[in-house]
Amino acid sequence: MTDVAVVGGGPAGLSAALFTQKNGLDTVVFDTDETWMHLAHLFNYLGIRSIGGEEFMAIARGQAEDRGATLNQGEEVTEVSKAGDGFEIVTEADTYDADYVVLATGRSRELAEDLSCELTEEGEIDVNVKMETSVENVYATGAMVRGEEMEAIISAGDGAAAALNILSKEKGEPFHDFDKPGDVPTLAED
Ligand SMILES: Cc1cc2nc3c(=O)[nH]c(=O)nc-3n(C[C@H](O)[C@H](O)[C@H](O)COP(=O)(O)OP(=O)(O)OC[C@H]3O[C@@H](n4cnc5c(N)ncnc54)[C@H](O)[C@@H]3O)c2cc1C
Repeated sequence: MTDVAVVGGGPAGLSAALFTQKNGLDTVVFDTDETWMHLAHLFNYLGIRSIGGEEFMAIARGQAEDRGATLNQGEEVTEVSKAGDGFEIVTEADTYDADYVVLATGRSRELAEDLSCELTEEGEIDVNVKMETSVENVYATGAMVRGEEMEAIISAGDGAAAALNILSKEKGEPFHDFDKPGDVPTLAED
């Protein structure tokens, strides 16, 4: 049993995984590597003046892995369903259990629809500002909730919002992932 299953390893999914694994929740990311970042060059990701999409992805994957997240690259999720208090995640290779599911599959909404997540009038997956869907402990992020209004930094923010809500539920109080300059030596020792 893993704590968090993230379906999709673009900016949204990797951001969610970074936050949850960094703060003690076992997290597995499933990704088929068809992220649009392969086609992008970013000049509009605040804090980064210019970076190729491929380089961004390499850094993002390494960042999540540095913190201990498991990245199952090339493993497609074919089905997600409720199972007891959690969820069963079926891939081409195996079956997994998780307490929380973060959907970060870009424009693809099939898994969310299979879980009977409610839709907006525009046909997007309906979420609140914490990225919670109508199905408890299922989150939806990125393009599947935003129509054409998609940018990498927005997807990363969606993933972070989902992760913080999961962490708040697990810790039983509003959770902040705030680091300070004094935390840097600890990071270097990791
Ligand atoms: C030509 C082009 C230029 C762009 N330029 C910019 C730019 O300058 N600035 C900017 O901010 N944005 C840009 N973008 C948009 C940016 O790439 C997207 O906003 C961003 O990639 C969305 O991130 P995401 O994580 O929501 O989804 P994605 O990056 O699409 O990631 C979704 C991931 O989920 C995986 N996946 C899907 N279904 C499954 C499944 N069932 N099982 C496992 N994995 C699955 C996919 O393979 C993919 O890797 C550009 C896009 C394009 C096409």
